[in-house]
Amino acid sequence: MILNTLVSERGEATMPKSRVLITGGAGFIGSYLAELFMDRDWEVVVMDNLITGNLENIEHLFGKQGFQFIEQDVTEYIHHSGSLDAILHFASPASPIDYQLYPIQTLKVGSLGTHKALGLARSSGAKFLLASTSEVYGDPLIHPQPESYWGNVNPIGVRGVYDEAKRFAEAMTLAYHRAHGVDTRIVRIFNTYGSRMRLNDGRALPNFVCQAIRGEPLTIYGDGSQTRSFCHVSDLVEGVWKLLHSNTHQPVNLGNPTEIPIVDFARKVLAATESDSDLVHETLPEDDPRVRQPDISRAREILEWEPKVTLEEGLRLTVPYFEQKIRETGNDSTAVRESD
Ligand code: UDP
Repeated sequence: MILNTLVSERGEATMPKSRVLITGGAGFIGSYLAELFMDRDWEVVVMDNLITGNLENIEHLFGKQGFQFIEQDVTEYIHHSGSLDAILHFASPASPIDYQLYPIQTLKVGSLGTHKALGLARSSGAKFLLASTSEVYGDPLIHPQPESYWGNVNPIGVRGVYDEAKRFAEAMTLAYHRAHGVDTRIVRIFNTYGSRMRLNDGRALPNFVCQAIRGEPLTIYGDGSQTRSFCHVSDLVEGVWKLLHSNTHQPVNLGNPTEIPIVDFARKVLAATESDSDLVHETLPEDDPRVRQPDISRAREILEWEPKVTLEEGLRLTVPYFEQKIRETGNDSTAVRESD
């Protein structure tokens, strides 16, 4: 941070605020981070090309002092003229449907975008935090997954575009740390949910909640015995904040270790929405991981962090958002892509 003092209108010396640039800051998690940093008295620059991000997620921040939005593709040369204290690289399609819809953009933002964002961190002296993912573990053969596990990824499968882009991004981040001394962090984010998810992003939670509210059958892929562990976004962003303020360069898993088979998760959604929708089984997508649960020992130890929001509580917080969105879009499940 540049330590020159400013002089306020009343002639008092004031410290300039810290400033963070968040790539993908108009996305689901990025927008919560933008809000959190604004609340904690940082200036925030959001950079997003809006292919899966949405200005609605950050519209409440427009006009606030210290907030700036730049519509830009971070795979192109990126520049910011002011000082920067931190760069959070969160830009990427992140749901299996999205990264299969945008396979080349997903590979480019994980590789070229990470390179550009690291270059900016290097030239501006900012800390750099990479949003990585539990997908680096692929279909894991070790369970739960500690950060020391190298993973089981199919590089040429349909999920490979995301998994390998993030694995490359991690390698590039550590290379910039080792070769150029950039002060880097890596968070491996496990399944996260909350308001502002796109209704049709294709993930289990938006699909199930929307189907339940509309009275449609919940689509269970395969027999539903595959497991996931769902973390509420408020817990996740608190962990990211703590990680940025820690001094570890090693990857840190952030997620909720409470693991649940997908079919049981669907039943929890039915209870939370008071829906009597049926469950129907559909084909399991290619390379769908059989199990997933974060080992969060490292986050507990280094960050003194663990999630607080239970799945029941998180669903209570999240369902009204989907009800509202469905009211706005007239309950038409095909109309959402254009409007979200
Ligand atoms: N899933 C499902 N029905 C849906 C959407 C997803 O059964 O309508 C399953 C999916 O096959 C996976 C799990 O739910 O096993 C979580 O999928 P999601 O797309 O949320 O994210 P992933 O953890 O696979 O990246």
